[in-house]
Amino acid sequence: EPDPTLRAEKQPEDTDRALRPQGLSEFIGQAEARANLRVFIESARQRGEAMDHTLFHGPPGLGKTTLAQIMARELGVNFRMTSGPVLAKAGDLAAILTNLEARDVLFIDEIHRLNPVVEEVLYPALEDFELDLVIGEGPAARTVRIELQPFTLVGATTRLGLLTTPLRDRFGIPTRLQFYTTDELFEIVTRGARLLGIPTEPEGAREIARRARGTPRIAGRLLRRVVDFALVDGDGTITRALADSALTRLGVDHLGLDGADRRYLTLIAENYGGGPVGIETMAAALSESRDALEEVIEPYLLQQGLIQRTPRGRMLAQKAWTHLGLPMPKPQSD
Ligand code: ADP
Repeated sequence: EPDPTLRAEKQPEDTDRALRPQGLSEFIGQAEARANLRVFIESARQRGEAMDHTLFHGPPGLGKTTLAQIMARELGVNFRMTSGPVLAKAGDLAAILTNLEARDVLFIDEIHRLNPVVEEVLYPALEDFELDLVIGEGPAARTVRIELQPFTLVGATTRLGLLTTPLRDRFGIPTRLQFYTTDELFEIVTRGARLLGIPTEPEGAREIARRARGTPRIAGRLLRRVVDFALVDGDGTITRALADSALTRLGVDHLGLDGADRRYLTLIAENYGGGPVGIETMAAALSESRDALEEVIEPYLLQQGLIQRTPRGRMLAQKAWTHLGLPMPKPQSD
């Protein structure tokens, strides 16, 4: 069975807080986003105004929450955090907004999952820093307008396509986060090992970086697991051989794919002759939600050129057949 704790989704027991970069200059990778944010943060500081609303989108574990926290720190303001599914009623959002101080950063994770009623309340808050609340019910109901302090909304989403157009249009700074290169992950792993106080040979760190699925959160998790093996099975040093054997025992292969990724690829190969196969069929066959496939599993397989998305469904690419060690079937004539 795939080990869910090695996947990129947030876990309640996330303990990588110690490894979280605190400032923009400590943040590795995402060079373009970082350079732009540096300008927008500095400009907002010089003007003494709230920074423009910012939207981070991209697969889980790439640093959306981390960047939002860094923004607040660099702007010298408070950081408040909530998420789309948590804000069930308009009043929940109103309570948060009315408690913000001038120029604060409000972070809403999974903003594509906001209740439409809550989203309606958010629009005037974003545009004019005003809140229109309906008090009471029936004929006695009346609307009161509440002035808010200017603030910065930072939204995060793994699914840009699920955001309504009016909400998307209200973000002045939309920023797409990319998968990290092996070199960037190597720096992240090396920094993490130093913070954890674990001696690490460069080739050991590189092995973890190569197999971290382009994702800092996974790199941090793999690092902690490899540290366990280094302490118990090795002499406490992370070498390439130790990292390799630990990662293999954890079910992480040479491309960084885990059990769930391989089940996905094997299903298309063995049951559907390489595809195309529809996403709903895949979700049912794998007992995974369609969202998990689209948000967590597929982005990396697509980026690696292992699968293709076609109008008729998902298809395996040549690289996936090679990786699975299976012959690619000859195209059928129909
Ligand atoms: P997201 O919000 O996109 O799911 P997070 O911001 O929670 O991702 O990041 C996941 C973890 O990865 C964090 O705990 C942080 O320690 C680490 N991380 C993310 N980006 C970086 C980075 N650029 N450098 C170092 N560590 C990072």
